[in-house]
Amino acid sequence: MKIPSMSTISDLQKVEKKLVEIDNFKIMLPIKQEFMAAFKRYEPLARDSTLIATAKKCFRAYFFAMVLAFRLPKNGPPPYFAYGTGYHTFRHILEETFKETGEQGISLARGWEAAKDGWPGDPKITGNSYLDKYSHLTLPYLQVSCAVGFNHWKAEKLKGVIEVIAPEQPFEVTLKDGKTSGGTADQLIRWSGEPWCRDFKTTGMSPEWYERSQLDPKDQFYRYAHGVSGLVGEPLKGLLIETLFQHKVTKTHDGKPYIKSFIVSFTPSQLKRWENEQVVFERMLDICREEDIWPACETFCGNCEYHSICKVGTERGMMAKLEQMFTQKHWDFKNIDNSPPGEI
Ligand code: SF4
Repeated sequence: MKIPSMSTISDLQKVEKKLVEIDNFKIMLPIKQEFMAAFKRYEPLARDSTLIATAKKCFRAYFFAMVLAFRLPKNGPPPYFAYGTGYHTFRHILEETFKETGEQGISLARGWEAAKDGWPGDPKITGNSYLDKYSHLTLPYLQVSCAVGFNHWKAEKLKGVIEVIAPEQPFEVTLKDGKTSGGTADQLIRWSGEPWCRDFKTTGMSPEWYERSQLDPKDQFYRYAHGVSGLVGEPLKGLLIETLFQHKVTKTHDGKPYIKSFIVSFTPSQLKRWENEQVVFERMLDICREEDIWPACETFCGNCEYHSICKVGTERGMMAKLEQMFTQKHWDFKNIDNSPPGEI
């Protein structure tokens, strides 16, 4: 492939219009390919919150995960991922069953069958303190969590205040720089007649820390509010973030999972500012693409899955280790089998 040489941002934007499609998944053509040039590139054209959050964490991590698509650890996903996916599947199937059969379909069994399908096995103690934090996320723990989710869901259905309009609702809208912003909201709902989005989360944080660090500001929720409002043709009232808290048993915690919901909403001026900021952030990524230099942002190294890659002294050594430790799979937010490179 001939790599065009470009020097200005407007030139870059012209190049981005030339796309490569892989099974309907569109990527940006690389502008310059010098760093780890032997690897194919898969940078997604559609921009979602996971992709942007990875770049905001570290440009180099973005390059590894989203441009080169080395995302999935060869020894399987981390335990929190299987747990979070199992819980999401459970809630999704509960809702689908209810849609098909109404109140007669209120049953935990079908959701649980789907949730445990594909369980990779309970986590083993690895000696890696980061992974061992999640050693309590076993199949029995997932089952207890699903039971907690079921009781919460059933109580909501009996009250009848919230109507689920569309589960797993994908959206794509064009931002003012011509880039596509997309995502998949867990649910589009009507709450007391008003349109809302609901997202299901799982976390091991305390509610206080979760509220402080995960709700606002958060690109994902701005993106949903902006994109889904465009989809339904009326402003979303807000987002309902239903979070399942999981814990290890400690001296001060009984370890039982529980649910707490949070409300996040934005004014029109906040959404406008968010869109302006997206345009600026994409221009920063344009510079990385133009130079093919992806700066390390060391503040996050302690919690980064690519730590052992970045410690290698040569580019060739880094490439060998990437291939040894990770599987290449492009990030496509419309494919629900994809694993995000971080806690969900
Ligand atoms: S280890 Fe640090 S520099 Fe390397 S990708 Fe991760 S956050 Fe970036």
